[in-house]
Amino acid sequence: MAEIVKVKNVKKNFGKFQALSDVTFTVEAGEVVGFIGPNGAGKSTTIRVLLGIINRQAGEATIFGKDVWKDSLEIHKRISYVPGDVALWGSLTGGEIIDLFMKLHGGGDHEKKKYLIRRFELDPKKKAKSYSKGNRQKVGLIAALSVHSDLYIFDEPTSGLDPLMEAVFQEEVEKLKHAGKAILLSSHILSEVERLADRVVIIRKGRIVETGTLKDLRHLTRSTVTVETKKDLSPLAELKGVHDFQQKEGNSAIFSVDAPFINEILLEATKLDVKKFESVPPTLEDLFMRHYEGD
Ligand code: ADP
Ligand code: MG
Repeated sequence: MAEIVKVKNVKKNFGKFQALSDVTFTVEAGEVVGFIGPNGAGKSTTIRVLLGIINRQAGEATIFGKDVWKDSLEIHKRISYVPGDVALWGSLTGGEIIDLFMKLHGGGDHEKKKYLIRRFELDPKKKAKSYSKGNRQKVGLIAALSVHSDLYIFDEPTSGLDPLMEAVFQEEVEKLKHAGKAILLSSHILSEVERLADRVVIIRKGRIVETGTLKDLRHLTRSTVTVETKKDLSPLAELKGVHDFQQKEGNSAIFSVDAPFINEILLEATKLDVKKFESVPPTLEDLFMRHYEGD
């Protein structure tokens, strides 16, 4: 597979503050890389380095084999970018802004644009200043998805979108991936990353602390389950995939579960007459807490 993005030992300081101390990862054609980490970890800073908006102090950063700082104009012709806070010209309509973005990018696919406006249920005739946060994101997404790019960079793109629209976004990203495009998706929504990403890059305090396929990282993704049954539920503690089992009063318990075992655990629980079964996936924060406890 072709290496589209290559970042190696990148450092970035803002004055004395080291925002990025060691960032290394790649994105290849035909894959979605989930870029995750808590707020302030350095995701947007890394992306701004990639976009040639700010320059790095050290390290290598290339897109399509070209330097992201020196060759940024050339690189931009082949990339789409959507930030988490799309800013628009308030006096233009959404439709006008999408057309303008497309023109600046050298054209694009107007049939696809119309299709996306329908899918995202955007009213393109309204002035941008009247748009909600979610509608501004839609304008950014429709523009970015309507042009022909080889690399798509999304920085928390679905903030403000409702779940239905988030699903539309996810479908579109999957189509891009199958068309062989490279996608870098920064997100703090673990479920979104889980669904889309082939590989995950985890950044923490300006440093990449983990990269791998979701399968590799599955040991990190445990859900918290709360169960209440009519019969004694202590046998659940012995099941495969159950961890940190804590029995509470009145046949209820709380424990964590490795995602692949949830079905078997639910089946066993039903034999004990379930009164309540609640499964909450880990937030990214849980994941970090669990993984970095004690360091
Ligand atoms: P993330 O996108 O992961 O939430 P950011 O990349 O936006 O994190 O920020 C990483 C760190 O760098 C934060 O501590 C942030 O306050 C700091 N930072 C970002 N941009 C600047 C800037 N222009 N000047 C000073 N500090 C900055
Ligand atoms: Mg950010």
